[in-house]
This record gives sequence, C-alpha cells and structure tokens, in this order.
Amino acid sequence: MLYTAEVLTIGNELLTGRTVNTNASHIASRLTVMGFSVRRITVIGDDLDEISKAIREILARSPTIVVVSGGLGPTYDDMTAEGLAKGLNRPLVMNDEALKELREKYEAKGLPLTQERLKMALLPEGAKPIRNEAGIAPGFTLNVNGTDIVVTPGVPKEMENVLESFLNRLARRPPVHYYEESFLVKGVMESALAPHVKSVVKETGVYIKTHPKGHETREPYLEIQIAYSGENAERVRDTVRRVNERVKAIVRELGGTILEGVENSQ
Ligand code: ATP
Ligand code: MG
Repeated sequence: MLYTAEVLTIGNELLTGRTVNTNASHIASRLTVMGFSVRRITVIGDDLDEISKAIREILARSPTIVVVSGGLGPTYDDMTAEGLAKGLNRPLVMNDEALKELREKYEAKGLPLTQERLKMALLPEGAKPIRNEAGIAPGFTLNVNGTDIVVTPGVPKEMENVLESFLNRLARRPPVHYYEESFLVKGVMESALAPHVKSVVKETGVYIKTHPKGHETREPYLEIQIAYSGENAERVRDTVRRVNERVKAIVRELGGTILEGVENSQ
C-alpha cells in the first residue's frame, strides 16, 4: 500500500509573496523522510470558499494524510477552521479541550478570554485538538473517510510543534524504518552551526534540525535532532549514528558542550 500525503498552506501573505512558504517545504520534507509520497502542495488565500473548495478537492483524491497550515489565529482573517467546517459539511462547535487550553494560557498571562480569543476553540465537529506548546492557537486533527487531516498554525515554530505531536502519535504510518537521535548542546549558537549543518544535510540527505530551547532561563541550549528513514533498519540506524558523530565533532570544534542524548525509532 502506498502512503500518500498532501499539504495545504493557507494565507494571503503567501499569495502576494510577502511570506516565503517555508512551511510547505518543511512539511513536505518531514513527510518524505517518514516515507510518505507527497503528491501535491496547494497554496490558497484566507477565503472561506477557497478553503472549503480546496479541502474537498484534496479529499476527493483520498490521500492517507493532509497537513494544513495557517489561519488559526484570533483575527477576522483567520478562517481556516470555519472554511474546513464548511467544506466538510460539519458545524463549527466550541471544543471543550481547546477551550481549556486557551483558558489556561490566557489566565497565566492574566488576560481575559475575549470573543476573538474564544474563536480559537471553535473547531469543526469531531475535531480533536492538539496542544500548541509554542504559542496559543491549538492545532487539531480530524479523520474524514479514512484520511487523517491535521491542521496547524501558520507561525513556523508553532506549525512544527503541532506537526511533530501529530506525527508522533500517528497510527497509520509507512512501513519504512524511521530512526532519530537527538542530543542537547550548550555553548554554541544556532547561527554558528547552521552552515555546517546545511552542508552535512546536503551531502547525506539526512534530516538535521536544531531546536533552540531554554529561552525562559538564562542558559539557552540547543536540541539537535537527526532523523532518517529507509527500508533497511540497520543501514538507517548506522547512517544516523554516523551523522550524529559528525555533528557532535562539529559542535566540539565550535567550542560547544554536549549535554545528553536520546534515541527514538519507529
Ligand atoms: P496567528 O495566531 O499568528 O495569526 P495563524 O495560525 O493564524 O497564527 P497565520 O496568520 O496564517 O497563522 O500566519 C502567522 C504568521 O506565520 C504569518 O505572518 C507568516 O509570517 C507566518 N506564516 C504563515 N504561513 C506560513 C507559511 N506557509 N510559511 C512560512 N511562514 C508562514
Ligand atoms: Mg493569523
């Protein structure tokens, strides 16, 4: 069985060229690494009819999964949830779990839940929220006629956070071996590592991502994630380990310290 995927990015700023559609390329490369065949990337504006039409067209092709990004915020022009509800012929309903998440987040900031803020908990009926650890608007997931749809915010960090939660708990995934390792690093800036990481990615085809952490504290650190997939589990693991050692050597050369590591395979 082939595992297919489509990406739907929503935002007027993408159509005018004001924002470069980096979410599309990030999502496509993550899905590809996991073994999905990405069949189409669609870009549309913040428009109810366009959103509703686009999701119907995508579902008619019955992909295994659809990743949607953008338009979950509090402003009038964020209408992704409403557009999807329309396209799916489902009502928009106040989701208790999403409401709880919003209430917690705004209470922590000492801010009231206004109409605009409450809007972020209005989801198509049957949607399950996905906590957004990098911002406010919750993401959500829906299964429609066997297709898993995940909807993420547009802000890249928030999109990545919600996408990773979704991918981690995805039941139906391609039967390729996926393996990742990550480790924590102190004393080296993400920008200093960037050109080295870029050339290792280009050379090996392995996915390497640096995640800045610990901004709240005085001691920021980086999490470095290295992921790869393929048919041969042993080769996949060896490749990740080899790249891991290379990146660690680069970190040390740049004066950084390696704190700890985690392994994770699926
Ligand atoms: P917000 O709560 O910030 O309104 P949102 O889910 O409504 O979040 P958008 O309004 O669509 O997201 O986008 C917020 C910002 O994220 C945009 O200003 C843009 O810079 C960035 N962004 C949105 N979509 C993309 C994309 N496809 N690629 C890269 N950046 C994007
Ligand atoms: Mg917005």
